[in-house]
Amino acid sequence: MKLIATDLDGTLLNSKHEVSKENAEALRLAQENGIEIAIATGRTYSDAIHICKKANINAHIISNNGSLAFSKEGKKLKSCTIDKSSLEHVLNWLYENEYAFEICTDKNIFLRHDTKSILEKDFKEAKINNPSIHMNIINDMISLIFSQEGIKFIKCKDDILNSNLDFCSITVVSFNKSKLNYGRQYYEQFKKLSMVISNEYNFELINSNASKGNSLEHLANYLGISLKDVTAMGDSYNDISMFKKAGISVAMGNAKDDIKNICSHVSISNDLNGVAHFIHKLMNKLKLKSTPA
Ligand code: CA
Repeated sequence: MKLIATDLDGTLLNSKHEVSKENAEALRLAQENGIEIAIATGRTYSDAIHICKKANINAHIISNNGSLAFSKEGKKLKSCTIDKSSLEHVLNWLYENEYAFEICTDKNIFLRHDTKSILEKDFKEAKINNPSIHMNIINDMISLIFSQEGIKFIKCKDDILNSNLDFCSITVVSFNKSKLNYGRQYYEQFKKLSMVISNEYNFELINSNASKGNSLEHLANYLGISLKDVTAMGDSYNDISMFKKAGISVAMGNAKDDIKNICSHVSISNDLNGVAHFIHKLMNKLKLKSTPA
């Protein structure tokens, strides 16, 4: 094993969106034993760096669901951005249909100024169809969105369209399942961008050449590592592309069954330090292999 790539939310991060001491130590132990570490996340590069610094981890970073890849020294290895005409089409559609969204560059996350009130309205509508849906869900989602590094607010779509920035990903969020499914179905047919899903309440649009799997392959090539010597760990649909590329694929214990079924291994839950648990298992196996019989 020469390279371990791990997703953040639902995988390396616990439900409080923190890297536990156990997980950070396990990653450092792997590095001390010559294994390269990569973070592969839907979050922006700045946000991922912020999380790594806080946990004292120095890792290669695949951000924005594979739209960008950076070496651990901060060198940009790959960049796939959204073309202007698709950006304009999607923004018009999002405003017409009143969706909350995050539009990301490598550094910033742009939110419409009325994001919170749209999410609250969606939640009220969701509660009509599903009275058991709990207020915690919206509170957690709002705190997750607003706690990211580099948040900026826009007054209107022209703030985005008239900027000269490179946008990597557009994440659409709704608690209202029928509204969310309407969007997912629409963008399944929209062939100019790829759609990935990282949780129950979102879908994300990226350049159709961007995926965690493609960027992981690019990083492995850059490091001179064969894909069979790569382990990928994750918990959701946006991790499937890297599960397919890596020699060892690991689903967290908290992942849905259809994710577990396509992985070669299943670890324990993110809240029980599933990443550390698997790394220790892997390291023990490697040690056994290198000890002469
Ligand atoms: Ca995840």
